[in-house]
Amino acid sequence: MKIIHVNSGNYDVVIAPGLLGQAGERLRSAGRKGTAFVVSDDRVYPLYGARLEASLRGAGFAVERFVFPCGERNKTMATLTDALEAMAGAGLTRGDFVAALGGGVTGDMAGFAAAVYMRGIPFAQIPTTLLSAVDASVGGKTAVDLSRGKNLAGAFHQPCLVLCDTDILSALPAELISEGSAEMIKCGVLGDAALFDAMKTGAWKSDLEGSIAACVALKARLVDEDEYDNGARQLLNLGHTFGHAVEARSGFSVSHGQAVAMGMVMAFRAAGLDAGEIAEAARACGLESQCPYSWQELSQAALSDKKRRGGSITLVLPERVGKCVLKTVPVEELPAYFRRGTGAEA
Ligand code: NAD
Repeated sequence: MKIIHVNSGNYDVVIAPGLLGQAGERLRSAGRKGTAFVVSDDRVYPLYGARLEASLRGAGFAVERFVFPCGERNKTMATLTDALEAMAGAGLTRGDFVAALGGGVTGDMAGFAAAVYMRGIPFAQIPTTLLSAVDASVGGKTAVDLSRGKNLAGAFHQPCLVLCDTDILSALPAELISEGSAEMIKCGVLGDAALFDAMKTGAWKSDLEGSIAACVALKARLVDEDEYDNGARQLLNLGHTFGHAVEARSGFSVSHGQAVAMGMVMAFRAAGLDAGEIAEAARACGLESQCPYSWQELSQAALSDKKRRGGSITLVLPERVGKCVLKTVPVEELPAYFRRGTGAEA
């Protein structure tokens, strides 16, 4: 078992097998009382909902639930409103809490509901995807999407406990493992050369607990330094500016993890570095590393984002595996970075 304490928000991230069945006791020990309001999507709830609820009841909690249709397309204000109405219908008070059971979509939406219901009630995260275990469930960013973009409405609201059950995570389908492993490679590149090597060789799979803990520890360190994302926390965007352009250009047919892997390769090249090792790590995780789009197409996709016009953007540029820096550049300079990133300019 690994336990990482996050100071901003003062909560533990527990990583171990069998946590789903211990959720009730652990939430009780973390000081929770009253009603547990379980939020989950309709793909995850049938798999794990009953076991979670049995554990919660076993520890003396009353249980209510809200289950919504899975997928990013449902991370909306409409779903948030339904969740809030269900919370009010269940008579939830500030003495109760939300238990988010699912991937990043569930955690983000349920966390936002907990942040605004009665001006904020506690919430716990029980991540069921690798991406949410290593990234989304930690750090207190909660949000839903608006028609003009992802995560445009949200709040910082730290969880009271995060339970990463490695039994759930090791049973994930291959594509969900690949999605999460892109963010794990990122953590290695940002500050953990040993983790990066483990991602490259595949050794991380034989120490899932330790590898997740390494990612959570890195994220916790950055969140503790910069809870509200004005400085060091932005390092977690490594590969994301380039990756977002790939996602946008593909009409979101390229998955986020896949785009981040391509984005990291581009970030290395844009920084004038060899990207061979990154491509190798991506391949080992079942991810494509070569971006199929030209630098012109990517620049157009990035610049068509209205927010960016005439402003500046902070890029995360690697110096080597284990060290990256932030560099704020005028948006007009982005095409030059895409050009170097795609290898169009050797
Ligand atoms: P997701 O929650 O949509 O999960 C992906 C799919 O896998 C869904 O269909 C879900 O039902 C299914 N699923 C989840 N757990 C499963 C399991 N154990 N077995 C089988 N199927 C399962 O998406 P995600 O990839 O986990 O997260 C992506 C979201 O996370 C995005 O909305 C992104 O914005 C957000 N995110 C948030 C943060 C943050 O700091 N808050 C960080 C990174 C990403």
